[in-house]
Amino acid sequence: MSSTRRDFLKRSMALAAAAAVTNPADLFARQTGNIFKSKSKSPGPDKMVLTFKPFEARMKHVFTISGSSRSTTPIVLTQISYQGYTGYGEASMPPYLGESTASVMDFLRRVDLSQFSSPFQMEEILTYVDSITTNNTAAKCAVDIALHDLCGKLMGQPWWKIWGWTNQDLISTCATVGLALTPDGSLDKPKIREKTKETLEFNLIKVKLGNSEEVDKGMITTIREVTDLPIFIDANQGWPEKGYALEMIEWLAERGVEMIEQPMPRLLLDEAAWLRDRSPLPIMADEACQRLSDVRNLHGAYDGINIKLMKCTGMREAREMISVAKALNMRLMMGCMTETSCAISAAAQFASQLEWADLDGNWLIANDVFSGMKVVDGYITLEDKPGIGVEPL
Ligand code: MG
Repeated sequence: MSSTRRDFLKRSMALAAAAAVTNPADLFARQTGNIFKSKSKSPGPDKMVLTFKPFEARMKHVFTISGSSRSTTPIVLTQISYQGYTGYGEASMPPYLGESTASVMDFLRRVDLSQFSSPFQMEEILTYVDSITTNNTAAKCAVDIALHDLCGKLMGQPWWKIWGWTNQDLISTCATVGLALTPDGSLDKPKIREKTKETLEFNLIKVKLGNSEEVDKGMITTIREVTDLPIFIDANQGWPEKGYALEMIEWLAERGVEMIEQPMPRLLLDEAAWLRDRSPLPIMADEACQRLSDVRNLHGAYDGINIKLMKCTGMREAREMISVAKALNMRLMMGCMTETSCAISAAAQFASQLEWADLDGNWLIANDVFSGMKVVDGYITLEDKPGIGVEPL
């Protein structure tokens, strides 16, 4: 018998055996090896179906960072259905990312999953999705998360476990105390005390700085009237002068601050390296670190990177960024946009690999549409639920 004929028979037998099983793990086994790959473009019952709808997340507080304020965040929710299973995903579009509900919906309309015979062709599918446009990272992420959720469900396992990680003794996530100003532009201290009190169920506070020196220092001294919890700072590129940035960091180090995120504008890498050499606190890249290709360039200029699914196109690339950062001895954190528990639960799958987590996006919104990752006494907890572990509410 020719080897081609023998392979054909082997595949046919595998196909017949696979058709008889319904267990998700067996489904995974039968989809490997591309034996079902079809050139056909016509959708059939075994094709993945991507659907999506816009959603407006309402924030509990008006959210102010250096440069902007807002009370809602546009989101697009996605689903990929396949053989009775549904994976959920999400794109969140804070205005500074340059995406909108319209741009995400336009992108998703261009995604043709009918050309793929199996969701387990994840590399091929997500490489194709990434190739559709240059940017649209949040839209790509919405497909990536839904595909991961779907494949995890088909396998019957959560991603933290598929990747060989743990859900034991996970780190705390921080809660953000946003800036509050009075109409005349000065610090609204009563409001900041109130916001600080609301974060006391957490073990770590994140504070957004990068305003005037008076406002920045006033934020910290007002928070310190309420709590001694460790703080980390996100300056959102707000300190463009390196000497001033160093003075601020030294001042903050004496006040229980343990880490600084993105003190200087993202393109100033030489200045960031100067600052890192002198800073008493670790300095993490956020705006400077969008995707996998950025990580190596930041080595030496920053102590570590803040990975966000919406910036890096999702879980597949985030997993790769973690490997590269670890190989370069860089420190790791994960952050989020304003997101529902869907994208937050996707990010939480990585919790065991991180030194810091800033995954309070679902806690900041008043109208969550998923149940998923829970924060207990400030700590991230991950259940043994398949995929990203979410249920629609
Ligand atoms: Mg940041």
